[in-house]
Amino acid sequence: TLPGISLRSNHERVVDLPPRPRSDDPAAIRSVGVIGGGTAGYLTAIALRTKRPWLDVSLVESPTVPIIGVGEATVPGLVVFLHHYLGIDVEEFYREVRPTWKLGIRFDWGPDPDGFMAPFDWDGNTIGTAGAMRTDGHIGAYTVQSLLMGADRVPVFDLGDQHVSLMKYLPFAYHMDNARLVAYLAAVAEQRGVRHVRSTIADVVLSSAEHVDHLRADDGRELRFDFYVDCSGFRSLLLGKALKTPFHSYASSLSTDSAVTGNLDHGGRLKAYTSAVTMQSGWCWQIPTPEDDHLGYVYSSSAISDDDAAAELSRRFPGISEPRQVRFRVGRHDRTWRGNVMGIGNSYAFVEPLESTGLLMITSGVQSLLAALPPSHDAPHARDLVNRGLADRWDALRWFLSLHYKFNTRLDTTFWKEARANTDISGAQALLDMYATGVPLRFRHPLLRVFARVSTPTFYGLSGVETILLGQQVPTRLLHPAELDGAWARRRAAAEAFVRRALPQHEALAAFHTDPSFNQALLFDDDSWASPRNAEQIGMA
Ligand code: FAD
Repeated sequence: TLPGISLRSNHERVVDLPPRPRSDDPAAIRSVGVIGGGTAGYLTAIALRTKRPWLDVSLVESPTVPIIGVGEATVPGLVVFLHHYLGIDVEEFYREVRPTWKLGIRFDWGPDPDGFMAPFDWDGNTIGTAGAMRTDGHIGAYTVQSLLMGADRVPVFDLGDQHVSLMKYLPFAYHMDNARLVAYLAAVAEQRGVRHVRSTIADVVLSSAEHVDHLRADDGRELRFDFYVDCSGFRSLLLGKALKTPFHSYASSLSTDSAVTGNLDHGGRLKAYTSAVTMQSGWCWQIPTPEDDHLGYVYSSSAISDDDAAAELSRRFPGISEPRQVRFRVGRHDRTWRGNVMGIGNSYAFVEPLESTGLLMITSGVQSLLAALPPSHDAPHARDLVNRGLADRWDALRWFLSLHYKFNTRLDTTFWKEARANTDISGAQALLDMYATGVPLRFRHPLLRVFARVSTPTFYGLSGVETILLGQQVPTRLLHPAELDGAWARRRAAAEAFVRRALPQHEALAAFHTDPSFNQALLFDDDSWASPRNAEQIGMA
C-alpha cells in the first residue's frame, strides 16, 4: 500500500443516476404509457415510478381482454427483484400474496423412474457431482438442496425453544397464485402513483415507421404519451401489429403451443419444488400454493387434440378441477425496442414455462428499459445494445430448453419420438461437444469454459446444462477424482444428517409468518444470497 492509494483495489465509488429530462426540451420523455395490465404491465409500471419518480406513468388495461393468468413458478432472482429493486415490503407481500417456497425443479424426465432434481444451488456442488455419478450412477445426491427436495424439507430447524433459518444460505424462489399476485401488484402500482386507465385500444396511430404518435380507444378517446411500453401480451398491439416487427419462431426447437390447466387438492402437503412431469404429448407443471396444487399440461396441438389433452390430464391427476385452455406461441420479435416503443412480456417474446423463466425475462426487460431509457428522444441512446442483449438471452433460453426435448427418453409416444429425432439443438452443439468429452464441466480447462460461454451462451450457466444432461443420462466421460476415498461419502452423510433435522415447508412457513426477523435476515444480512450487496452486483439494488 502506498500512502493514500492501494495498488490492489479499486476504491472509487460512482453511481449511475438516471438522467432527468430538461424542462425546456421539446423532445423530453416525461410521460410513459404502459399498455397492458398483466404481470408484465404492472411490474413495468411500478419499476418506472420507483426508479424515475418524475415520470408520469399510465397503465392502460382493457376491461374486456383478460390477462393470460398463469405464471406462478419463479426463480430466486425474482425475490431480489421484488424486495430490493421494487422495494416491495416483504411482510405485506407474504400477507397479501401468500407465496410458498421453491428450492428447484423436480423433473419426472429421462430414463430413471425417479427422475432428477434441478436445485437452485447447482452452482454450489456442495456434495459433489463426480462423486454422485461415480457412487450412485445418477445426480440424486450432488447438492444439499437436491437432498432437501428429495426429502420434501426446507432449511429451517426447530430447536425446541426457537426456530433457526438457514434459508439465507440456499437460494430459493416463490410459487405464487397468479390472481393474487396481479391484484397485489395493481394495489402497489396505485400507491406508487401509476394512473390506471380502463380502455380498449382500437387503433395505434404512427407518425413514422418507428414512432407511435397516439392511441385511439374504442370509446373514441385519444391517448398520447412520450414513450410506450407494449405489455399487451401475445396480441403485441404496438411492437408486432402496428410496427410490424418481424417475429422469429422457435418452433423447430420447441414444438408446444398450448396448455390445459387445473387445480388439484394437495391435502396440506406443500412440496418445496415445481414438478415437471413427462406426459404423452408434452409435460405437466405442478405448482404448490397454500390452498391446492396448480397444474398445467403443456402440449403440441398438432400431436394431441385439446379434448384428449384435458382427458389425459384428468386420468393422470384424478380429481383435478375443470380444465382451462391457454394458447401461446414461442419465439421473439426481431427487436424489443423500436423508436418510442419497447415490448416487455409476451408482446416481445415467449418460451414455454419448462424452466420457470417468464417472470424472470420480464424483469430483464424492465431492468434494460430503466438502465437505458434516455431523458429525451434527442439524447444518445443504447437501443441497439438492449435489442441485441435481450435477443441473445432469449435465444440462449431457446437452446437450453431444446436440450430438455432432444434427450428425454422417458416415453416412446409419437410426440417424444419426434422430439428426439427432430428438435433443433444446433445452437447448443459446441456445449454438447464439451459435455461429451468430460464432466463435471466446472473442472474442465478454464479456457474451454470461456470458449463455451462465448460460443454458446448458456442462460443458467454450465451447471444448468450439466444438470439437465446428466439428469437425462446423456452419455459423457467422468473426470478422475482428486480427493481422498470416502470424502464424498462423508459430505453426503453430513448433508443427510442436516436434511433429517430440517422442517417440512408448512411448518417453516408458519415460523416465518410468526417471526419477521427471518425475512429481515434473508434480505439484509451481508452473508445472504439475497443481500443488498448481491442485489447491487446484479443491478437490482
Ligand atoms: P397478459 O397477461 O396476456 O396481459 C395482457 C394485457 O394486455 C391485459 O391486461 C389485457 O387487458 C391488455 N390488452 C390486450 N389487448 C388490449 C387492448 N386492445 N387494449 C388495452 N389493453 C389490452 N412465467 C413464469 O415465470 N412462471 C411460470 O410458471 C409460467 N407459466 C406459464 C404458463 C403458460 C402456459 C404461459 C402461457 C405463460 C407462463 N408464464 C410463466 C409466463 C407468464 O405468465 C407471462 O409471461 C406473464 O404473465 C406475462 O404476461 P403479459 O403481462 O405479457 O400478458
